[in-house]
Amino acid sequence: MLHTGLLTQLTVRDDREHGPARQSLCKEDPTLIQADYIRPSRLDAALDAVTCGTLVAAGCTDLFASTSRPELPGGRVLDITAIDDLRGIRRAQGFWRIGPTTSWSAIRSAEYLPPAFDALRQAAREVGAIQIQNSGTVGGNICNASPAADGVPPLLLLDAEVELRTRTRERRMPLTDFILGPRRTALEPDELLVGIVIPEAAARGRSVFVKLGARTHLVISIAMVAARLEVNDRIITRAALSVGSCSAVAARLPAAEDELVGRPARPGTAEGISEQAIAGDLSPISDIRADAGYRRAAAAIMVRRAVRTLLDGPDA
Ligand SMILES: Cc1cc2nc3c(=O)[nH]c(=O)nc-3n(C[C@H](O)[C@H](O)[C@H](O)COP(=O)(O)OP(=O)(O)OC[C@H]3O[C@@H](n4cnc5c(N)ncnc54)[C@H](O)[C@@H]3O)c2cc1C
Repeated sequence: MLHTGLLTQLTVRDDREHGPARQSLCKEDPTLIQADYIRPSRLDAALDAVTCGTLVAAGCTDLFASTSRPELPGGRVLDITAIDDLRGIRRAQGFWRIGPTTSWSAIRSAEYLPPAFDALRQAAREVGAIQIQNSGTVGGNICNASPAADGVPPLLLLDAEVELRTRTRERRMPLTDFILGPRRTALEPDELLVGIVIPEAAARGRSVFVKLGARTHLVISIAMVAARLEVNDRIITRAALSVGSCSAVAARLPAAEDELVGRPARPGTAEGISEQAIAGDLSPISDIRADAGYRRAAAAIMVRRAVRTLLDGPDA
């Protein structure tokens, strides 16, 4: 749903039910630039419309916040929220697929997901507040590429891959290769993110998400940690750890993961993760929310806390 604050600037073409129609909502204001607003219901129509200069809009919770000028970049807004194929979570042979316009509220309430997705569902509960969770989407979170995006560390745990499409090509790449830096992704101007794919092999074990902010709600993370463990015969057989807001891009911690594999699945094991293994894969900055040293120290505490929480559980 496009934010009404943006709508006043647009010419609307919504072909969802009645075929193409144009209706001018542009106010008689010379400071506003008129832009086309398109809200197709079919993916192929959206792919036809994505070209250089087209602004893709999902929940608009990031877009609206980044729009301080009265005019929009480009001449056209493509709202992808009416396309059923881009929304929802389904299981297929060998993988799970999350549509990019799936809202945080939908993820939060997806009780049918296996426990490996718990970190993602907990992160969904932490994104902004209920209103933001109702509009904001997982795809928007990824494409916005904020180092503080709460959705990214839980998806890294699940070895998530992204599916990108244009009218003529389709490609798939690991999420780790997709997010290149703050506000930078591998998305080409004519591409849409059309799916997030989780291999079945990574949807195992249990996971948890821990977020640190200056307050409990409506807060951008100082640091967040996601952890997933697989345990067999009371031994950790697979570990996935990731940290956000402590480097330009949320990062997995391969050295700390290696330290856990083969260790007994009891809470004390968490304390054995070395400082070096955690800090070695992080490069926090100092900013208005916290300084680098605080972030590094907090991340180490949070990683151990997350692992301890999982090892305290009934299946550990
Ligand atoms: C008050 C407030 C609080 C917030 N709190 C949090 C928080 O706690 N944690 C957090 O992580 N975020 C937070 N956010 C940020 C935001 O809500 C999330 O990142 C949300 O998931 C963005 O989704 P969206 O659908 O609104 O994206 P949009 O704003 O619609 O789009 C974001 C970007 O992604 C692009 N895009 C979207 N979908 C696609 C697609 N399928 N293909 C290609 N490009 C696409 C858009 O062009 C745009 O560049 C907050 C925002 C606000 C306003």
